[in-house]
Amino acid sequence: MSKIGSPESPLRVAIVGAGPSGFYAAEHILKGEDMHAQVDLFDRLPTPFGLVRGGVAPDHPKIKSVIRVYEKTAARDGFRFFGNVKVGHDVEVEDLERLYHAIVFTVGCETDRQLGVPGEDLPGSHAATAFVGWYNAHPDYADEHFDLSCERAVVIGNGNVAMDVARMLALTDHELRQTDTADHAIEVLDAKKVREIVVLGRRGPAQAAFTNPEIRELGEMEDADVIVDPLREFSQRQPEGKRQRIVLRFLVSPVEIRGDGKVEKIVIGRNELVEEDGTLRARDTGEREELECGLVLRSVGYTGIPIEGVPFDEKRGLILNEGGRVLDSHDSGHKVGHYTAGWIKRGPSGVIGTNKKDALETVTHLLADVESQTLLRPASPEPIAVEELLAERGEPHGRPRVKFVRVEEMLDTLGEKISG
Ligand code: NAP
Repeated sequence: MSKIGSPESPLRVAIVGAGPSGFYAAEHILKGEDMHAQVDLFDRLPTPFGLVRGGVAPDHPKIKSVIRVYEKTAARDGFRFFGNVKVGHDVEVEDLERLYHAIVFTVGCETDRQLGVPGEDLPGSHAATAFVGWYNAHPDYADEHFDLSCERAVVIGNGNVAMDVARMLALTDHELRQTDTADHAIEVLDAKKVREIVVLGRRGPAQAAFTNPEIRELGEMEDADVIVDPLREFSQRQPEGKRQRIVLRFLVSPVEIRGDGKVEKIVIGRNELVEEDGTLRARDTGEREELECGLVLRSVGYTGIPIEGVPFDEKRGLILNEGGRVLDSHDSGHKVGHYTAGWIKRGPSGVIGTNKKDALETVTHLLADVESQTLLRPASPEPIAVEELLAERGEPHGRPRVKFVRVEEMLDTLGEKISG
């Protein structure tokens, strides 16, 4: 039998999740000169690009331009995209094991982390991920409703997602209209009454999770002042009398969200910093304060959702793995042929580019396993087999949308639909 990865027997890889790490994994696999490989990239949505499309803030078009890199990967020989196919629902992991030598899970962290405080689920208290999905036209969040008729909104957490949502709440109509924000969101944001956005950081300014460009950007908004005591650059600046204020607060944690049928106020506890195992952590001092507000956006990070048939580390919210090789259990070895990359491998951290290096580590291990021929032994590795399986499972999931990744193609198709 010819060696897997040879011209007679190309390496067949399924990648599950068409976000940045899925595309970087595909790129690393397909660009190997000595390796004959074919990659089928699956996504549960009809559209590729994951959080670049559904997560990156609409006023950050430069970050989105990374899509061009992914389009180049999509144009490589051996690449196919199957949209609208949910693994664990439309096809099972077992199906993929019959069709491919290797499977790489790059599904990201699809849900929000819970805060665990009373009132978290009151109407008016939302996961920031839902707000992000809603203004980015992500189909999962098309029917969400955000009541922006209150004067004060509170954002919990001070990572870059918190900065994104605070900024989106404070953009003027003029700023918004230069972005690709979903029309339904522009309409609601245009009519907002929110004048103050309070961002709560549980630790001090030096431990804040936001990065420098993001905090600098807040200071450049058309119609929002930034108020913050302990940050020198901002604290020395006088408010310019803009109509909105973004207030950055530190050493405060939400204790309870209160209201009669909807959010009316948030109880905040004051923290002090204590060192534990070499890390500065927030400790409740017992001091309390109440803040009236009508909207709470909880931005305390993402977590992964388990996939049927893939070992999961519940505590960390990740696929159980070592350097991207999926492990059978905490104390056993590699689940042969199974790999992972991106957020679902290492957790929801880093910028888009971080996933390139992360995917490289995984693919390096995968290619070492090709070298030693430690792979799955699929019964039906021919490329047509997956198309037949999808067709068998029926419409609408049975129609692979091969290489439908260029924005121009999407627009053309939309144009055809609209005009005819
Ligand atoms: P993140 O950076 O991990 O921030 C999470 C925030 O939630 C931190 O401030 C954290 O505080 C706080 N937090 C966690 N649990 C909490 C609790 N129980 N009570 C109060 N606060 C709590 O996560 P993210 O903002 O979701 O971003 C995810 C990743 O995407 C990050 O790596 C981020 O840089 C990246 N991203 C980048 C961009 C960009 O480049 N423009 C935009 C968006 C996202 P502690 O620090 O005290 O834990």
